[in-house]
Amino acid sequence: MGAEGDLQDVLILGAGAAGLWCAEVAARGGRDVAVLEKVTRTGTKVLASGGTRCNITTTLGPEEAARLFGPKGERFLRAGFRNLPPAEVRERFEAWGVPTEVAPLEKIFPSSGNAKDVRDALEGAARGAGARIHLEAGARSIERDGDHWTVRTTDDRVWHARSLVLAVGGKSYPKTGTTGDGYPWLEGLGLEVVLPVPALVPLTSQETWVHELTGIAWQGGEARLESPDGRVLQRRRRPLMFTHRGLSGPAAMDLSHHVARASSSAAGLRLKVDFFPDLDREGLRAALVASAGLPGAPRLQRALGGLETGPMPRRLFDAVAANASLAGDVTVNGLDRSMRHALVEAMKGLPVPVHGTVGWDHAEVTAGGLALREVNPRTMAVNQCPGLFVVGELLDLNGPIGGLSFQAAFATAQLAGEALAKAGPVPLA
Ligand SMILES: Cc1cc2nc3c(=O)[nH]c(=O)nc-3n(C[C@H](O)[C@H](O)[C@H](O)COP(=O)(O)OP(=O)(O)OC[C@H]3O[C@@H](n4cnc5c(N)ncnc54)[C@H](O)[C@@H]3O)c2cc1C
Repeated sequence: MGAEGDLQDVLILGAGAAGLWCAEVAARGGRDVAVLEKVTRTGTKVLASGGTRCNITTTLGPEEAARLFGPKGERFLRAGFRNLPPAEVRERFEAWGVPTEVAPLEKIFPSSGNAKDVRDALEGAARGAGARIHLEAGARSIERDGDHWTVRTTDDRVWHARSLVLAVGGKSYPKTGTTGDGYPWLEGLGLEVVLPVPALVPLTSQETWVHELTGIAWQGGEARLESPDGRVLQRRRRPLMFTHRGLSGPAAMDLSHHVARASSSAAGLRLKVDFFPDLDREGLRAALVASAGLPGAPRLQRALGGLETGPMPRRLFDAVAANASLAGDVTVNGLDRSMRHALVEAMKGLPVPVHGTVGWDHAEVTAGGLALREVNPRTMAVNQCPGLFVVGELLDLNGPIGGLSFQAAFATAQLAGEALAKAGPVPLA
């Protein structure tokens, strides 16, 4: 078995994180596996990931990790993350000769700091288990043909397969080969696709004062996104960075799918930054009052430097003070009650107007994709489409930065691979 035109046993479209993982599991489980990859090499996104260091998974436990995908995602991923917990992803890579290490913010990287080691291990494991990988074999269309699936490739070849796994990824970072090819195929089968939007992507702001803070990073804050009626859509305590276009850093990027989905009405969303999330308003007020007694009537900025987060950069402090209608050179002793109240409010929730995202070219992942209700969460088999499986970023899943996207890709691929191995080479129902 194996040549184009023959009936393949298992055909996987896409040799990325999920496709290679699934190929290894299915082939090791006794299936005859061929993988078709559109571009000239495997795992292009793996190679680009984590600043080319590749944050492969998280130190979190399976339940906690699944929870980061929101209620719908959590329900869907619970079985997959239990079946392949983050710790086991780590063990698998260690067994493939890629030692790993823990980094801040619950991240796991290869100890070499080299994403190529991760890609090579995935490809080596798939090939080692017997999977055949065909490069520059982009799929153009898929269709159900009686008891099998037919796939046409861009070079006009035709492939037939008993089981078909779609692992073509999403639409983000299209230069790596992921251009959203899977969505029209799924819609063509009558399946629901949740509108794909860029996610884990920096935010834009049209405010000059935001641009003027370019280069300033704040490590210990919490960003929260509020709907126009004041409802908190999501909060994220992670580093934040001001850029010449708006906001970046994990805190902003983790919230970006909401902004992208709101598209033209994104201006209605309000992003607020709590610079001192460890202190409630009363605590912050008390810290200010206490520092008022210090000799030399210190400037507020210096007083705030006594707090755990360390001194606020001058330009950032001035922006916060301006939001509270205070002059940047105000002293602690010069604050009356209402001024102190305004300052505390600005420090606990500085509104930063955001207007959109910097778009697909810079988005790490895609939010949206095949609706989860179309898929069996224990096998990744598409309900109503015998022999069809969907794994990885093509699914309507999105989690925050921190190795969670790979964790989801590997866990969904593991389930599909196991289901294929268990079913054996049976004709379609
Ligand atoms: C810059 C960047 C940094 C990132 N860093 C991290 C990180 O550190 N940690 C983390 O968890 N996640 C990270 N991600 C996200 C992560 O890379 C993806 O979520 C993950 O690769 C998704 O796996 P996948 O297999 O579903 O899709 P992909 O890995 O994107 O693989 C899809 C594959 O399908 C191929 N393909 C597309 N269309 C076709 C077609 N028609 N026919 C055949 N093949 C096709 C593509 O060329 C690609 O090889 C990052 C993403 C980017 C862009």
